[in-house]
Amino acid sequence: MEIEDFEDAIKDKTILASIIWGNNEIGSLNDISTLYQVCKNHSVLFHTDATQVVGKLGIDVKDIPVDFMSFSAHKLYGPKGIGAAYIKSDDYGIPPFSALLHGGEQESGMRGSTLAVHNIVGFGKAAEIALREREAKNKFYKELDEKIIKIISDLPNIKIIGDLENRIPGVYSIIVDKKDFNNERFLKKIGNRIALSSGSACTAGQPSHVLKAIGLGEYTGKVLRISVSYLVNENDIGELLSIINRL
Ligand SMILES: *Cc1c(COP(=O)(O)O)cnc(C)c1O
Repeated sequence: MEIEDFEDAIKDKTILASIIWGNNEIGSLNDISTLYQVCKNHSVLFHTDATQVVGKLGIDVKDIPVDFMSFSAHKLYGPKGIGAAYIKSDDYGIPPFSALLHGGEQESGMRGSTLAVHNIVGFGKAAEIALREREAKNKFYKELDEKIIKIISDLPNIKIIGDLENRIPGVYSIIVDKKDFNNERFLKKIGNRIALSSGSACTAGQPSHVLKAIGLGEYTGKVLRISVSYLVNENDIGELLSIINRL
């Protein structure tokens, strides 16, 4: 997001700004340090959804301060059904906000109900492994990125959307600019050996608000979203590239 557009959106009555760190559809990263600073200049609290970047980028709230941050376990290979909220406590204490689930006093009164120990332990273990393997994974993703971006850039009717410099490695959205290409029809045709998608799982069946916001709404039916795990092997990548090559 452009810093000026973000600052313009802050009005006198704004108390909180919330912005995604790394976009789940197109992979672009926002400049969180600068956006946070803009918020502080206007005395506005700042939240970021870091779900796509935790486990991939090194995140230290001492280096990149935020007031609130949320993220989910399963995007870093932890269990589904658990996430975490980071809440900064400053000289004034924890900013006031109300509990999501009322009832018990668990999680400092913020989320009543019995703690899901299996999920909590699974999340912790996944985070530990993500931290330990981050460098090796980043090397894998960097090489993959170079390869995939180079191949796609050379194809005449295919374009990668989003920021090519500041991006989450391994997440690609491409536009297949061919007259009779339709993403949903194409996905039915390729079967289930490679899992591609026509957009975000969260908004399946609706035109993408992300594409609309970046002025590419008309391409909704021509977009493929590719998200590559570090668990894939050379054969899988070869198969993906040959599918892309034949588009
Ligand atoms: C997946 C995702 C979510 C949702 O997390 P769930 O645990 O699947 O509900 C939220 N934000 C972003 C950026 C995501 O990628």
